[in-house]
Amino acid sequence: MSDCLFCKISAGEIPSNKVYEDELCYAFYDIDPQAPTHFLVIPKAHIGSVAEVTGDNSAVVAHIFQVIAKVTKQLGLDSYRVVSNIGEQAGQSVHHLHFHVLSGRDMTWPPG
Ligand code: 5GP
Repeated sequence: MSDCLFCKISAGEIPSNKVYEDELCYAFYDIDPQAPTHFLVIPKAHIGSVAEVTGDNSAVVAHIFQVIAKVTKQLGLDSYRVVSNIGEQAGQSVHHLHFHVLSGRDMTWPPG
């Protein structure tokens, strides 16, 4: 999508601090970290949120979770939280599917 912030970041049109990249997904540090380690993993192809995942586009979600497992091991993270906000009430502010990976501090449950 031409006007999507995360499409522009994954295409390199807007700078970001890259964690990992392959043909299907892009991972980069959050601009406003909520934990000592906080990065986002996104599909390169535009999907609005988990609510738009279908049988036709879900393969990238499985791939992203493999990437999260690999990258967190590479970063030496053995405890972390993976979060995806869907919709305004849940706190979604960017309408391109993304998984937050947060680590490095004690976390509470349920999240606020
Ligand atoms: P959401 O609120 O949709 O769950 O998560 C969006 C995340 O994107 C937020 O944590 C926010 O800090 C991050 N973010 C927003 N704009 C930018 C940006 O331009 N660069 C980076 N690296 N992160 C961003």
